[in-house]
Amino acid sequence: MESQDYDKLSFDKLKKQLSFNFAENKAINDLQIKPDAFIPVLFSLKFGGDWSFKTRDLEAMAVKEKITRYNEDEGEGYTLERVTLFVNPILISTEGKVLRLEKCGSKNERELVERPFRVKLDAEDIIKAELNPKIMEISLERIKGPLNFEGSAAYGVSHEIEHLAGCEHTGKFIWEFQYKVEN
Ligand SMILES: [Zn+2]
Repeated sequence: MESQDYDKLSFDKLKKQLSFNFAENKAINDLQIKPDAFIPVLFSLKFGGDWSFKTRDLEAMAVKEKITRYNEDEGEGYTLERVTLFVNPILISTEGKVLRLEKCGSKNERELVERPFRVKLDAEDIIKAELNPKIMEISLERIKGPLNFEGSAAYGVSHEIEHLAGCEHTGKFIWEFQYKVEN
């Protein structure tokens, strides 16, 4: 590749990235949300998974759900990613107890934890972000709480609320399990 071609490619890429960042800032501005509060959404969209973020005057967490829409007749589909952002979340109620192994980004081992099967929560502000890979669009909408989650999303809510509260789990680890060979 000629160095000139390379420069042209990196220039085009840089231009796209800059306009993406510009659109991102505009969206944050249009939503009238504090930029700090929006950070978990950006992390979730860019790196995947659930995120929480805490400053002296705000707590924010983003929980991701993946919804696959598949058309059986056409044999085609896409996985929509829904990220719900909670600014200063309040956990209203939980239901059930589910034992599961979880790997937290800040730890290097999976841990046995107990999570609620259902959660109900509200927040000072709630934003729903939906990333649609089919139309390559990220839609943002302010929604009203309280919201209910069950299964994966409820585990994510519980995990992130725990981070915000600053209490880390000290569960059991995989090496405390016992292998059993069935004959
Ligand atoms: Zn974690």
